[in-house]
Amino acid sequence: MHHLPALYTYQLRMNHRLIPDALRPIAEKIESQERISDADAMALYQSSDLNALGMMANFVRERKNGNYASYIHNRYINYSNICVLSCQFCAFAARKRDPHAFEYAIEEIIRVVKEALPLGITEVHMVGGLHPTLKKDWYLELLRELRALDPDLHIKAFTAIEVRHLAQRIFRLPIREMLELLREHGLGSITGGGAEIFDPVVRDTICRGKETAAEWLDVHRTWHELGGRSTCTMLYGHIETLAHRVDHLSQLRRLQDESGGFTGFVPFAFEPQTTILAHIKAASAIEQLRNLAVSRIYLDNIDHLTAYWVSTGLPLAQVSLSYGVDDLHGTILEEKIFHMAGATTPQQQTVAALEHAIREAGREPIQRDSYYRRVVSSQNRSATGVRSADAELACV
Ligand code: SF4
Repeated sequence: MHHLPALYTYQLRMNHRLIPDALRPIAEKIESQERISDADAMALYQSSDLNALGMMANFVRERKNGNYASYIHNRYINYSNICVLSCQFCAFAARKRDPHAFEYAIEEIIRVVKEALPLGITEVHMVGGLHPTLKKDWYLELLRELRALDPDLHIKAFTAIEVRHLAQRIFRLPIREMLELLREHGLGSITGGGAEIFDPVVRDTICRGKETAAEWLDVHRTWHELGGRSTCTMLYGHIETLAHRVDHLSQLRRLQDESGGFTGFVPFAFEPQTTILAHIKAASAIEQLRNLAVSRIYLDNIDHLTAYWVSTGLPLAQVSLSYGVDDLHGTILEEKIFHMAGATTPQQQTVAALEHAIREAGREPIQRDSYYRRVVSSQNRSATGVRSADAELACV
């Protein structure tokens, strides 16, 4: 668990004149580091005073993380979009015979990761659909070859739903045993995807057949019990109510109380454009900032809050640094899932762009690793001796 540096443990106060009367008791709880209730979270979600929410969330952020804002230098890999499910919000998945179905060979994946190593990446982030036929040995070989490329490269892979799918249908092993096996072959962390919204009725509507909230939480609990860390997510802005969001945050906070294994929270606004739910209006900038601010205030036991620029766009992610966010995710290098749903943001960012966005917002940028720890120098990691700042120009 994270402990506040001494600098940030002294009693700080907000300017209460800028906070509406109805929210002042919540502000007082925040100042005295008292946990806010679900009813408080609802009151925050229902408030239209975005600046007051921002001030409260910013207060929490500052106390937890000081003036730093982080990013990670990472490479995304979507190894295949072939999936046995058809979640309504998903424009990524395909059946095997669909023209847009893809499946990369291990050699292709290794080639693109090898190309990204001289750029200074510290993490490969890899997820895919629930592939019906790829074999156990394929996954193990992939992890082994990635590990062999660079023993320091962190392999963050598979959502909790992929983990269950692999355990039950491909590896035919209990989840704990399979996670141990994946870890032996190089897995560093599991990803936070697949959480969507935990409410069972919403889940049954937008992603029928997907694992339940309890099953998602159980995969993360098991991974945390094995000493692993992971991130957690929420997909919002579709058919859920505010109460569903609070319930989702509450379930995450409870597991974190128990296990302490979540490093950061990454909420995503739903991208409706090319999905079956295209009639739904995308979450506005105000809604995204409000959601980030409420999450920062409510999730008092999760150290970091990430604005996923692929979903928000970098300009709004930059603004969110004043609404509780202390992390801008990463360079990513080729995002597919949100872009197949119609996202118009770029598919990658440079280190320079992320650092500039952070500096302009008045924060000090730090490159982080997969556990949100500061990376002192990425330049020494270069396999070819190419300085990362120079190589970065090549990946623009
Ligand atoms: S969200 Fe994941 S599980 Fe659902 S259809 Fe898309 S790839 Fe498959």
